[in-house]
Amino acid sequence: MKIAVLGATGSIGTQTLDVVRSCLPDTKVSVLTGYTNLSVLAPLVDEFKPEKVWVPSEEAVENLRGMLTHRCEILCGDEGLVSCASENDADVVVNALVGRVGLAPTLAAISSGKNIALANKETLVTAGELVMNLAREKNVRISPIDSEHSAIWQCLPPTAQSAVPRERERSGIHSRGARGFGGVAPIQIEKIILTASGGPFRTWSREEIAKARASDALRHPNWEMGAKITIDSATLMNKGLELIEAMHLFDCPLEKIEILVHPQSIIHSMVRYIDGSVIAQMGLPDMRLPILYALSAPERVSNDFPRLDFTTCGDLTFEAVDLEKFPCLALAFEAAKVGGTLPAVMNYINEWAVKQFLKNRIGFYEISSLIEVAFRSYTVKPVKTLQDIIEAENWADDFIKTIPAANYEIHV
Ligand code: NAD
Ligand code: MG
Repeated sequence: MKIAVLGATGSIGTQTLDVVRSCLPDTKVSVLTGYTNLSVLAPLVDEFKPEKVWVPSEEAVENLRGMLTHRCEILCGDEGLVSCASENDADVVVNALVGRVGLAPTLAAISSGKNIALANKETLVTAGELVMNLAREKNVRISPIDSEHSAIWQCLPPTAQSAVPRERERSGIHSRGARGFGGVAPIQIEKIILTASGGPFRTWSREEIAKARASDALRHPNWEMGAKITIDSATLMNKGLELIEAMHLFDCPLEKIEILVHPQSIIHSMVRYIDGSVIAQMGLPDMRLPILYALSAPERVSNDFPRLDFTTCGDLTFEAVDLEKFPCLALAFEAAKVGGTLPAVMNYINEWAVKQFLKNRIGFYEISSLIEVAFRSYTVKPVKTLQDIIEAENWADDFIKTIPAANYEIHV
């Protein structure tokens, strides 16, 4: 198998390359993309010897070239990233980019018939219908890397885990189903139960959370991840993004998805069938497992990763989610229900607000209040083409510009 890894220097990207190193020795890496962290990218390029590499600017191209022994094509710019995703000989494109920048490469890769192993959830939140429709049209598989979606995928019947969807019957959740999952004869799902760790502020009061700073939010109890998703996990926006991601991936209506706080992150999600039977997928919180499964499904690949030991893992507990304390999740439910261009607007403003929070320029609850203000002044439109998404994001960008900068210096 040949793979392209977009976002190779990040948390998911480096773990993907770890998985290749330790479990998939016959896998060739034909593309690697980085960003500003050239000192992480350079040794990966020399180790995996891809044909193409991407960095953001001409200057970075020159700097990287000086750091490499391996000779390869080095591209830059937005077009370079899109061409890395589509013009390659990879069988699977692993999208481990963070944020809305992941959308254009995903669409380009699907258009050129590449299967996708998808970590970049913002792609599906922003343009889920367009992405899934194109995947169906091109008959490509979208394998989830997000641990909850990998869990749900593993809890579905084996036909839904086909590595070659075009040869299988459709057997997804909803009547239309997700062909990316091997397709669609309606199966008998009552609920998808998405588990959430609850993040670092699960036991804090609303008053305490209001004073939280980036350094507090970056201390996730169970997972080590990139900064953006770690803040999203603290606000529970991450679970909201995952809710919308699940609706698209599994073609599942909102009413069939439930969120359950499970602080130990051992059960990664569950599926309850109409007879009341519940199937859960469990494992240690280790992203290498869903990454490996995304690359190997429906096959299982043996490995020496640490095993879950039920005699020492302690109690598994569950609680309801508190939408008062975590309004970002309530807003994501609203975006999921309303649909159209609203999730794209939410995603855009959230991405910007998380960056401000990381710089301690805004408070924790300003992330949700900004999104809420935007929701109240935005007129939602249906999504027919990519242009509808672009216009929604332009609106969100104009909205951000109207925010008096002074408001955002209070916590500096
Ligand atoms: P990260 O910040 O660690 O890595 C992001 C990667 O994207 C890096 O290689 C970075 O260089 C690159 N990048 C950043 N901005 C870029 C830009 N403007 N243009 C091109 N490249 C850019 O993020 P991560 O934690 O690995 O997350 C990646 C995606 O996977 C996110 O969508 C996240 O929500 C999702 N995800 C992550 C985890 C996890 O455990 N880290 C779990 C589930 C889902
Ligand atoms: Mg997740």
